[in-house]
Amino acid sequence: MREDINEKCAVVGIFGHEEASKLAYFSLHALQHRGQEAAGISSSDGKKLHTIKDRGLVMRVFNEKKLSTLSGSSAVGHTRYSTAGDDSILDAQPVFARYDLGEMAIVHNGNLTNADEVRNKLIEKGAIFQTFMDTENLIHLIAKSSKDKLLERIIDAVQRIEGAFSLVFLSRSKMFAMRDRFGFRPLSLGKLPNGGYIVASETCAFDLVGATFIRDVKPGELLIFEEGKEPISMQVLESVTPKHCIFEYVYFARPDSNVFGQSVYQTRKDMGKELAKINPIEADMVIPVPDGGVPAAIGYAQESGIPYEMGIMRNHYIGRTFIEPTQEMRDLKVKMKLSPMTDIIKGKKVIVVDDSIVRGTTSRRIIRMLKEAGASEVHMRVSSPPTTDPCFYGVDTPDKESLIASKMSNQEICDYIEADSLAYLDEAALLRSVKSTADEDKYCTACFTGKYIV
Ligand code: AMP
Repeated sequence: MREDINEKCAVVGIFGHEEASKLAYFSLHALQHRGQEAAGISSSDGKKLHTIKDRGLVMRVFNEKKLSTLSGSSAVGHTRYSTAGDDSILDAQPVFARYDLGEMAIVHNGNLTNADEVRNKLIEKGAIFQTFMDTENLIHLIAKSSKDKLLERIIDAVQRIEGAFSLVFLSRSKMFAMRDRFGFRPLSLGKLPNGGYIVASETCAFDLVGATFIRDVKPGELLIFEEGKEPISMQVLESVTPKHCIFEYVYFARPDSNVFGQSVYQTRKDMGKELAKINPIEADMVIPVPDGGVPAAIGYAQESGIPYEMGIMRNHYIGRTFIEPTQEMRDLKVKMKLSPMTDIIKGKKVIVVDDSIVRGTTSRRIIRMLKEAGASEVHMRVSSPPTTDPCFYGVDTPDKESLIASKMSNQEICDYIEADSLAYLDEAALLRSVKSTADEDKYCTACFTGKYIV
Protein backbone atom coordinates (compact mmCIF):
# COMPACT_ATOMS: atom_id res chain seq x y z
CA MET A 1 0.00 0.00 0.00
CA ARG A 2 1.29 3.43 -0.88
CA GLU A 3 1.77 5.56 2.19
CA ASP A 4 3.44 8.56 0.69
CA ILE A 5 0.41 10.38 -0.55
CA ASN A 6 -1.79 13.08 0.78
CA GLU A 7 0.90 14.63 2.86
CA LYS A 8 1.88 18.22 3.43
CA CYS A 9 -1.04 20.00 1.88
CA ALA A 10 -3.25 23.01 2.38
CA VAL A 11 -6.98 23.16 2.94
CA VAL A 12 -9.44 26.03 2.82
CA GLY A 13 -13.17 26.33 3.36
CA ILE A 14 -15.39 29.34 2.61
CA PHE A 15 -18.93 29.52 3.92
CA GLY A 16 -21.67 32.10 3.40
CA HIS A 17 -20.14 34.28 0.71
CA GLU A 18 -21.48 34.92 -2.79
CA GLU A 19 -18.08 34.50 -4.35
CA ALA A 20 -17.03 31.49 -2.33
CA SER A 21 -15.03 29.73 -5.05
CA LYS A 22 -13.12 32.91 -5.94
CA LEU A 23 -12.18 33.44 -2.32
CA ALA A 24 -11.11 29.79 -2.11
CA TYR A 25 -9.02 30.33 -5.23
CA PHE A 26 -7.26 33.38 -3.81
CA SER A 27 -6.70 31.55 -0.54
CA LEU A 28 -5.12 28.64 -2.38
CA HIS A 29 -2.68 31.08 -3.96
CA ALA A 30 -1.58 32.17 -0.48
CA LEU A 31 -1.25 28.51 0.49
CA GLN A 32 0.58 27.38 -2.64
CA HIS A 33 3.84 26.83 -0.70
CA ARG A 34 2.15 23.89 1.08
CA GLY A 35 1.75 21.92 -2.12
CA GLN A 36 2.46 22.44 -5.79
CA GLU A 37 1.49 19.15 -7.30
CA ALA A 38 -2.26 19.53 -7.71
CA ALA A 39 -5.03 21.92 -6.80
CA GLY A 40 -8.80 21.76 -6.65
CA ILE A 41 -11.99 23.42 -5.49
CA SER A 42 -15.53 22.11 -4.89
CA SER A 43 -18.39 24.55 -4.45
CA SER A 44 -22.01 24.11 -3.52
CA ASP A 45 -24.92 26.07 -4.94
CA GLY A 46 -27.32 24.49 -2.43
CA LYS A 47 -28.58 21.86 -4.88
CA LYS A 48 -25.42 20.44 -6.31
CA LEU A 49 -21.68 20.34 -5.80
CA HIS A 50 -19.32 21.40 -8.56
CA THR A 51 -15.69 20.30 -8.63
CA ILE A 52 -12.61 21.23 -10.63
CA LYS A 53 -9.22 19.72 -9.82
CA ASP A 54 -6.11 19.01 -11.79
CA ARG A 55 -2.40 18.59 -11.57
CA GLY A 56 -0.22 21.68 -11.33
CA LEU A 57 -0.15 25.04 -9.65
CA VAL A 58 -3.32 26.88 -8.64
CA MET A 59 -2.72 29.38 -11.43
CA ARG A 60 -2.56 26.61 -14.03
CA VAL A 61 -5.58 24.70 -12.80
CA PHE A 62 -8.01 27.62 -12.69
CA ASN A 63 -9.01 30.53 -14.88
CA GLU A 64 -11.91 32.99 -14.80
CA LYS A 65 -14.12 30.77 -16.95
CA LYS A 66 -13.57 27.67 -14.87
CA LEU A 67 -14.12 29.55 -11.64
CA SER A 68 -17.41 30.89 -12.93
CA THR A 69 -18.71 27.31 -13.15
CA LEU A 70 -17.98 26.80 -9.45
CA SER A 71 -21.11 28.61 -8.33
CA GLY A 72 -22.58 28.87 -4.87
CA SER A 73 -21.92 30.44 -1.50
CA SER A 74 -19.71 27.73 -0.03
CA ALA A 75 -16.53 26.11 -1.29
CA VAL A 76 -13.63 23.97 -0.16
CA GLY A 77 -10.18 23.95 -1.74
CA HIS A 78 -6.95 22.03 -1.60
CA THR A 79 -3.38 22.17 -2.81
CA ARG A 80 -1.58 18.90 -2.79
CA TYR A 81 2.00 18.05 -2.10
CA SER A 82 3.10 14.52 -2.54
CA THR A 83 6.33 12.79 -3.32
CA ALA A 84 6.65 12.40 -7.05
CA GLY A 85 5.93 9.18 -8.83
CA ASP A 86 2.20 9.27 -8.63
CA ASP A 87 0.78 12.04 -10.68
CA SER A 88 -2.67 10.64 -11.03
CA ILE A 89 -5.41 13.22 -11.26
CA LEU A 90 -7.50 10.82 -9.19
CA ASP A 91 -5.23 11.59 -6.27
CA ALA A 92 -5.96 15.32 -6.41
CA GLN A 93 -8.47 16.78 -3.98
CA PRO A 94 -11.26 17.61 -3.12
CA VAL A 95 -12.41 14.02 -2.96
CA PHE A 96 -16.00 14.06 -4.19
CA ALA A 97 -18.71 11.43 -3.73
CA ARG A 98 -22.41 10.85 -4.22
CA TYR A 99 -23.94 8.71 -1.49
CA ASP A 100 -27.34 7.96 0.01
CA LEU A 101 -27.64 11.34 1.74
CA GLY A 102 -26.60 13.37 -1.30
CA GLU A 103 -23.21 14.70 -2.28
CA MET A 104 -20.07 15.59 -0.38
CA ALA A 105 -16.53 16.84 -0.96
CA ILE A 106 -13.63 16.46 1.45
CA VAL A 107 -10.25 18.15 1.67
CA HIS A 108 -7.56 16.83 3.97
CA ASN A 109 -4.18 17.92 5.26
CA GLY A 110 -2.28 15.32 7.24
CA ASN A 111 -1.69 11.64 7.20
CA LEU A 112 -3.84 8.90 8.68
CA THR A 113 -1.73 6.37 10.57
CA ASN A 114 -4.31 3.56 10.56
CA ALA A 115 -5.30 4.07 6.91
CA ASP A 116 -4.32 0.57 5.75
CA GLU A 117 -6.15 -1.13 8.58
CA VAL A 118 -9.34 0.88 7.96
CA ARG A 119 -9.09 0.37 4.22
CA ASN A 120 -8.59 -3.38 4.48
CA LYS A 121 -11.66 -3.70 6.68
CA LEU A 122 -13.68 -1.67 4.21
CA ILE A 123 -12.45 -3.77 1.30
CA GLU A 124 -13.39 -6.95 3.17
CA LYS A 125 -16.89 -5.52 3.37
CA GLY A 126 -17.00 -4.92 -0.36
CA ALA A 127 -15.82 -1.31 -0.76
CA ILE A 128 -14.06 -0.46 -4.02
CA PHE A 129 -11.37 2.22 -3.92
CA GLN A 130 -10.44 4.49 -6.80
CA THR A 131 -7.36 6.16 -5.36
CA PHE A 132 -4.43 5.54 -3.02
CA MET A 133 -5.46 8.43 -0.81
CA ASP A 134 -6.25 7.80 2.83
CA THR A 135 -8.92 10.50 2.51
CA GLU A 136 -11.00 8.11 0.44
CA ASN A 137 -11.38 6.01 3.60
CA LEU A 138 -13.42 8.83 5.07
CA ILE A 139 -15.82 8.88 2.15
CA HIS A 140 -16.47 5.16 2.63
CA LEU A 141 -16.79 5.43 6.39
CA ILE A 142 -19.36 8.21 5.99
CA ALA A 143 -21.25 6.48 3.18
CA LYS A 144 -21.42 3.18 5.04
CA SER A 145 -22.21 4.57 8.47
CA SER A 146 -25.55 3.39 9.88
CA LYS A 147 -26.35 6.86 11.28
CA ASP A 148 -29.13 8.97 9.76
CA LYS A 149 -27.57 12.41 9.59
CA LEU A 150 -24.38 13.57 7.94
CA LEU A 151 -23.21 15.21 11.17
CA GLU A 152 -23.55 11.92 13.06
CA ARG A 153 -21.82 10.07 10.25
CA ILE A 154 -18.88 12.48 10.24
CA ILE A 155 -18.50 12.06 14.00
CA ASP A 156 -18.71 8.30 13.56
CA ALA A 157 -16.06 8.39 10.82
CA VAL A 158 -13.53 10.66 12.54
CA GLN A 159 -13.70 8.49 15.64
CA ARG A 160 -12.44 5.56 13.57
CA ILE A 161 -9.43 7.26 12.06
CA GLU A 162 -6.08 7.97 13.70
CA GLY A 163 -3.18 10.20 12.87
CA ALA A 164 -2.97 13.74 11.63
CA PHE A 165 -5.93 15.41 10.01
CA SER A 166 -7.15 18.90 9.40
CA LEU A 167 -10.30 18.34 7.36
CA VAL A 168 -13.01 20.38 5.72
CA PHE A 169 -16.21 18.64 4.52
CA LEU A 170 -18.70 20.27 2.20
CA SER A 171 -22.27 19.06 1.73
CA ARG A 172 -24.94 20.77 -0.31
CA SER A 173 -26.06 22.98 2.59
CA LYS A 174 -23.37 22.76 5.25
CA MET A 175 -19.67 22.85 5.84
CA PHE A 176 -17.74 21.07 8.62
CA ALA A 177 -14.18 21.68 9.80
CA MET A 178 -12.33 19.23 12.00
CA ARG A 179 -8.90 18.81 13.55
CA ASP A 180 -7.42 15.62 15.01
CA ARG A 181 -7.15 15.39 18.79
CA PHE A 182 -3.45 16.26 18.87
CA GLY A 183 -3.81 19.25 16.55
CA PHE A 184 -0.81 18.10 14.53
CA ARG A 185 -1.53 20.28 11.54
CA PRO A 186 -2.76 23.86 11.80
CA LEU A 187 -6.31 25.02 11.00
CA SER A 188 -7.64 28.48 11.77
CA LEU A 189 -11.06 30.11 11.71
CA GLY A 190 -11.68 33.62 10.43
CA LYS A 191 -14.51 35.98 9.53
CA LEU A 192 -14.82 37.34 6.02
CA PRO A 193 -15.15 41.11 5.61
CA ASN A 194 -18.59 41.04 3.94
CA GLY A 195 -20.13 38.22 5.90
CA GLY A 196 -19.36 34.54 6.00
CA TYR A 197 -16.51 32.49 7.40
CA ILE A 198 -13.21 31.04 6.30
CA VAL A 199 -11.18 28.14 7.65
CA ALA A 200 -7.67 27.66 6.33
CA SER A 201 -4.43 25.85 7.02
CA GLU A 202 -2.62 29.13 7.55
CA THR A 203 -3.60 32.67 8.41
CA CYS A 204 -1.69 34.11 5.44
CA ALA A 205 -4.81 33.13 3.46
CA PHE A 206 -6.92 35.36 5.74
CA ASP A 207 -4.68 38.34 5.12
CA LEU A 208 -5.03 37.95 1.39
CA VAL A 209 -8.85 37.88 1.37
CA GLY A 210 -9.19 40.50 4.13
CA ALA A 211 -10.56 38.06 6.73
CA THR A 212 -10.16 38.59 10.47
CA PHE A 213 -8.62 35.83 12.53
CA ILE A 214 -11.06 34.51 15.16
CA ARG A 215 -9.19 31.55 16.63
CA ASP A 216 -7.62 28.21 15.81
CA VAL A 217 -9.96 25.25 15.42
CA LYS A 218 -9.26 23.31 18.61
CA PRO A 219 -7.72 19.86 18.55
CA GLY A 220 -10.57 17.33 18.45
CA GLU A 221 -13.14 20.02 17.68
CA LEU A 222 -15.74 19.87 14.92
CA LEU A 223 -17.11 23.17 13.64
CA ILE A 224 -20.45 23.12 11.86
CA PHE A 225 -21.36 25.90 9.46
CA GLU A 226 -25.03 26.41 8.62
CA GLU A 227 -26.67 29.26 6.78
CA GLY A 228 -27.69 32.18 8.95
CA LYS A 229 -26.00 30.78 12.06
CA GLU A 230 -22.77 31.30 13.92
CA PRO A 231 -20.49 28.25 13.61
CA ILE A 232 -21.46 25.57 16.11
CA SER A 233 -18.63 23.93 18.03
CA MET A 234 -18.59 20.29 19.20
CA GLN A 235 -15.70 18.60 20.95
CA VAL A 236 -16.01 15.23 19.26
CA LEU A 237 -12.63 13.72 20.07
CA GLU A 238 -11.23 13.47 23.57
CA SER A 239 -9.00 16.42 24.40
CA VAL A 240 -5.41 15.52 25.16
CA THR A 241 -2.16 17.49 25.42
CA PRO A 242 -1.72 18.85 21.91
CA LYS A 243 1.20 17.79 19.74
CA HIS A 244 1.55 20.54 17.18
CA CYS A 245 4.03 19.85 14.40
CA ILE A 246 7.20 21.79 15.24
CA PHE A 247 8.32 21.49 11.62
CA GLU A 248 5.59 23.98 10.69
CA TYR A 249 7.74 26.57 12.48
CA VAL A 250 11.02 25.23 11.14
CA TYR A 251 10.22 25.06 7.47
CA PHE A 252 6.72 24.50 6.35
CA ALA A 253 4.46 27.46 7.19
CA ARG A 254 4.80 30.84 5.53
CA PRO A 255 6.59 33.44 7.68
CA ASP A 256 3.64 35.85 7.56
CA SER A 257 1.31 33.25 9.11
CA ASN A 258 0.48 32.78 12.74
CA VAL A 259 0.32 29.10 13.51
CA PHE A 260 -0.47 27.48 16.86
CA GLY A 261 -0.81 30.97 18.32
CA GLN A 262 2.61 32.31 17.34
CA SER A 263 4.12 34.31 14.50
CA VAL A 264 6.12 32.01 12.24
CA TYR A 265 8.52 34.79 11.28
CA GLN A 266 9.26 35.79 14.85
CA THR A 267 9.70 32.17 15.90
CA ARG A 268 12.14 31.50 13.05
CA LYS A 269 14.09 34.64 13.94
CA ASP A 270 14.28 33.46 17.55
CA MET A 271 15.60 30.11 16.32
CA GLY A 272 18.37 32.03 14.50
CA LYS A 273 19.15 34.00 17.66
CA GLU A 274 19.36 30.83 19.74
CA LEU A 275 21.58 29.30 17.07
CA ALA A 276 23.97 32.26 17.31
CA LYS A 277 24.02 32.00 21.09
CA ILE A 278 24.88 28.32 21.23
CA ASN A 279 27.03 28.12 18.09
CA PRO A 280 28.93 31.37 17.65
CA ILE A 281 31.76 31.71 15.14
CA GLU A 282 33.66 34.65 13.71
CA ALA A 283 32.86 35.48 10.12
CA ASP A 284 32.52 38.38 7.68
CA MET A 285 28.85 37.84 6.95
CA VAL A 286 25.75 35.76 7.56
CA ILE A 287 23.92 34.62 4.46
CA PRO A 288 20.64 32.71 4.24
CA VAL A 289 19.75 29.83 2.00
CA PRO A 290 16.73 31.51 0.41
CA ASP A 291 13.89 31.49 1.16
CA GLY A 292 13.68 29.01 4.05
CA GLY A 293 16.77 30.23 5.87
CA VAL A 294 16.02 33.97 5.68
CA PRO A 295 14.30 34.68 9.04
CA ALA A 296 16.77 32.51 11.00
CA ALA A 297 19.73 34.17 9.26
CA ILE A 298 18.34 37.60 10.21
CA GLY A 299 18.05 36.39 13.81
CA TYR A 300 21.58 34.97 13.72
CA ALA A 301 22.97 38.24 12.33
CA GLN A 302 21.12 40.38 14.87
CA GLU A 303 22.27 38.28 17.79
CA SER A 304 25.90 37.95 16.65
CA GLY A 305 26.32 41.45 15.26
CA ILE A 306 27.77 39.97 12.04
CA PRO A 307 26.42 41.71 8.91
CA TYR A 308 23.57 40.02 7.04
CA GLU A 309 24.09 39.76 3.30
CA MET A 310 22.23 38.29 0.42
CA GLY A 311 24.95 35.94 -0.78
CA ILE A 312 22.76 33.59 -2.78
CA MET A 313 20.15 34.54 -5.38
CA ARG A 314 17.10 32.41 -5.79
CA ASN A 315 15.29 31.96 -9.06
CA HIS A 316 11.64 32.08 -8.02
CA TYR A 317 10.30 30.54 -11.18
CA ILE A 318 11.51 27.06 -10.34
CA GLY A 319 9.59 24.83 -7.95
CA ARG A 320 10.88 23.30 -4.77
CA THR A 321 13.89 21.03 -5.15
CA PHE A 322 12.48 18.33 -2.94
CA ILE A 323 9.83 17.27 -5.39
CA GLU A 324 11.95 15.38 -7.89
CA PRO A 325 12.29 11.63 -7.45
CA THR A 326 15.88 10.95 -8.44
CA GLN A 327 19.08 12.30 -6.94
CA GLU A 328 20.26 13.49 -10.33
CA MET A 329 17.14 15.57 -10.87
CA ARG A 330 17.38 17.04 -7.41
CA ASP A 331 21.00 18.10 -7.98
CA LEU A 332 20.08 19.73 -11.25
CA LYS A 333 17.16 21.61 -9.76
CA VAL A 334 19.26 23.03 -6.92
CA LYS A 335 21.70 24.35 -9.51
CA MET A 336 18.95 25.97 -11.51
CA LYS A 337 17.38 27.47 -8.45
CA LEU A 338 20.20 29.01 -6.46
CA SER A 339 23.20 31.01 -7.71
CA PRO A 340 26.00 32.74 -5.78
CA MET A 341 26.53 36.52 -5.58
CA THR A 342 30.22 36.24 -6.43
CA ASP A 343 31.16 39.89 -5.78
CA ILE A 344 29.73 39.73 -2.26
CA ILE A 345 31.25 36.47 -1.10
CA LYS A 346 34.66 36.32 -2.85
CA GLY A 347 37.49 35.99 -0.32
CA LYS A 348 35.03 36.14 2.60
CA LYS A 349 34.37 33.90 5.59
CA VAL A 350 30.66 33.20 5.42
CA ILE A 351 28.11 31.69 7.76
CA VAL A 352 25.34 30.02 5.75
CA VAL A 353 22.05 29.53 7.55
CA ASP A 354 19.43 27.02 6.42
CA ASP A 355 16.32 25.82 8.24
CA SER A 356 17.08 22.10 7.97
CA ILE A 357 19.27 19.43 6.47
CA VAL A 358 17.30 16.44 5.26
CA ARG A 359 19.31 14.40 2.76
CA GLY A 360 22.24 16.80 2.77
CA THR A 361 22.06 17.37 -0.99
CA THR A 362 21.13 21.04 -0.80
CA SER A 363 23.82 22.00 1.72
CA ARG A 364 26.54 20.11 -0.14
CA ARG A 365 25.59 21.72 -3.40
CA ILE A 366 25.38 25.22 -1.91
CA ILE A 367 28.68 24.99 -0.06
CA ARG A 368 30.47 23.76 -3.17
CA MET A 369 28.90 26.60 -5.12
CA LEU A 370 30.00 29.22 -2.54
CA LYS A 371 33.54 27.86 -2.50
CA GLU A 372 33.69 27.84 -6.29
CA ALA A 373 32.57 31.46 -6.16
CA GLY A 374 35.59 32.24 -3.96
CA ALA A 375 34.35 32.10 -0.34
CA SER A 376 37.40 31.48 1.86
CA GLU A 377 35.48 29.63 4.56
CA VAL A 378 31.91 28.37 4.72
CA HIS A 379 30.35 27.63 8.11
CA MET A 380 27.02 25.88 7.97
CA ARG A 381 24.47 26.71 10.67
CA VAL A 382 21.12 24.95 10.77
CA SER A 383 18.17 26.44 12.66
CA SER A 384 16.72 23.05 13.68
CA PRO A 385 18.18 19.87 15.18
CA PRO A 386 19.42 17.02 12.95
CA THR A 387 16.46 15.45 11.11
CA THR A 388 16.88 11.81 12.18
CA ASP A 389 13.42 10.28 11.80
CA PRO A 390 10.66 10.26 9.20
CA CYS A 391 7.30 11.92 9.77
CA PHE A 392 4.09 9.88 9.79
CA TYR A 393 1.84 12.84 10.50
CA GLY A 394 1.85 14.66 7.21
CA VAL A 395 5.26 16.19 6.46
CA ASP A 396 6.96 14.68 3.50
CA THR A 397 10.29 13.44 4.83
CA PRO A 398 12.06 10.55 3.12
CA ASP A 399 12.71 7.12 4.68
CA LYS A 400 15.05 6.95 7.65
CA GLU A 401 17.88 5.61 5.47
CA SER A 402 17.80 8.72 3.30
CA LEU A 403 18.03 11.10 6.26
CA ILE A 404 21.71 11.95 6.48
CA ALA A 405 21.62 12.57 10.24
CA SER A 406 20.23 9.10 10.89
CA LYS A 407 23.39 7.46 9.64
CA MET A 408 26.23 9.97 9.99
CA SER A 409 27.79 11.83 12.90
CA ASN A 410 28.03 15.60 12.92
CA GLN A 411 31.64 15.47 11.75
CA GLU A 412 30.78 13.02 8.97
CA ILE A 413 27.97 15.26 7.76
CA CYS A 414 30.29 18.27 7.93
CA ASP A 415 32.83 16.40 5.78
CA TYR A 416 30.13 15.23 3.38
CA ILE A 417 28.72 18.70 2.81
CA GLU A 418 32.31 20.05 2.60
CA ALA A 419 31.76 22.75 5.20
CA ASP A 420 34.49 24.27 7.37
CA SER A 421 32.20 23.77 10.34
CA LEU A 422 28.67 22.58 10.94
CA ALA A 423 26.38 23.24 13.88
CA TYR A 424 22.69 22.68 14.51
CA LEU A 425 20.16 24.12 16.91
CA ASP A 426 19.68 21.67 19.77
CA GLU A 427 16.32 20.42 21.00
CA ALA A 428 16.31 22.57 24.13
CA ALA A 429 17.03 25.73 22.14
CA LEU A 430 14.38 24.81 19.60
CA LEU A 431 11.82 24.40 22.36
CA ARG A 432 12.87 27.75 23.85
CA SER A 433 12.30 29.37 20.46
CA VAL A 434 8.75 28.02 20.27
CA LYS A 435 8.15 29.01 23.91
CA SER A 436 7.55 25.46 25.04
CA THR A 437 8.25 24.51 28.62
CA ALA A 438 8.62 21.05 30.14
CA ASP A 439 5.22 21.20 31.85
CA GLU A 440 3.60 22.52 28.71
CA ASP A 441 5.24 20.38 26.09
CA LYS A 442 2.75 20.80 23.28
CA TYR A 443 4.82 19.99 20.22
CA CYS A 444 5.52 16.90 18.19
CA THR A 445 9.30 16.72 17.68
CA ALA A 446 9.39 13.15 16.30
CA CYS A 447 11.43 14.12 13.20
CA PHE A 448 14.25 15.25 15.50
CA THR A 449 13.83 12.83 18.39
CA GLY A 450 12.12 9.69 17.08
CA LYS A 451 9.54 10.06 19.87
CA TYR A 452 6.27 9.29 18.09
CA ILE A 453 2.92 9.88 19.70
CA VAL A 454 0.32 7.91 17.81
P1 AMP B 1 18.20 18.21 1.56
O1 AMP B 1 18.89 18.60 0.33
O2 AMP B 1 17.46 16.92 1.41
O3 AMP B 1 19.08 18.22 2.79
O4 AMP B 1 17.05 19.27 1.81
C1 AMP B 1 17.21 20.36 2.65
C2 AMP B 1 16.49 21.53 2.07
O5 AMP B 1 15.14 21.19 1.79
C3 AMP B 1 16.48 22.70 3.04
O6 AMP B 1 16.90 23.83 2.31
C4 AMP B 1 15.04 22.84 3.48
O7 AMP B 1 14.65 24.19 3.45
C5 AMP B 1 14.24 22.03 2.48
N1 AMP B 1 13.25 21.13 3.09
C6 AMP B 1 13.25 20.62 4.32
N2 AMP B 1 12.19 19.81 4.52
C7 AMP B 1 11.47 19.82 3.38
C8 AMP B 1 10.27 19.20 2.96
N3 AMP B 1 9.59 18.41 3.75
N4 AMP B 1 9.87 19.47 1.70
C9 AMP B 1 10.56 20.27 0.89
N5 AMP B 1 11.69 20.87 1.22
C10 AMP B 1 12.16 20.66 2.46
